[in-house]
Amino acid sequence: MTKILVVEDDAANAALLNKFLVSEGFEVTVVSDGPSAVTATSSIEPDLILLDIGLGKEDGRDVMKEIRLLSDVPVIFLTGRGLESERIAGLKMGADDYVVKPFSLAEVSARIESVLRRAGANIAQRRIDAPTLRFGELLINENTHEVHLGGQLLELTSKEFSLLAFLARSPRQVFSREQLLEHVWESSGEWQNEATVTEHIRRLRSKLETDPDHPRWITTVRGVGYRFELDANGS
Ligand code: CA
Repeated sequence: MTKILVVEDDAANAALLNKFLVSEGFEVTVVSDGPSAVTATSSIEPDLILLDIGLGKEDGRDVMKEIRLLSDVPVIFLTGRGLESERIAGLKMGADDYVVKPFSLAEVSARIESVLRRAGANIAQRRIDAPTLRFGELLINENTHEVHLGGQLLELTSKEFSLLAFLARSPRQVFSREQLLEHVWESSGEWQNEATVTEHIRRLRSKLETDPDHPRWITTVRGVGYRFELDANGS
């Protein structure tokens, strides 16, 4: 459920927004001052904040600054002020949009939808950028199929990548060559044999390991197979 934090000191306006947003299917929290807004931002982790600029003696833009220290949650300013320069200042501070009072609920709804859509696209992009598997200095991104070690991109073939990612998904679990053929090569062994695995492990180690003869990441378990190690000492 999408969580919206409403920061508004005007009780009637806050109640109106609360009722409307709940009817739109949002989980709504309403607070009326800056300190509560900052606390709620970290405790409920809202997906979006509607922030009134005129909070009694407080200026919503100061509250915005504090929120930005904690979170990059999308913020829509509610502003009763007619000065365009003030609204532009708000956007420059990192607000995602603003709604001028008096507003229609349809307008609020449209703004929320558009800001959430943009934020959703950003989150999706971050997900693509984010490494899926991280082991200290080794990053294995299963979306882009890139592997970085100590900040350097490793040039792995697609099969070497699949082999590493498969092992790293189950750290410390030992896989036999036969199991690796089955899972990584998706072969019953008719076309490839176990020497194929040995050869790919050798090539992978030559790219991944500082000392391929004493591997830190992919170790050999004698008579059984290979496993991905979490720690350099194999513990
Ligand atoms: Ca107000």
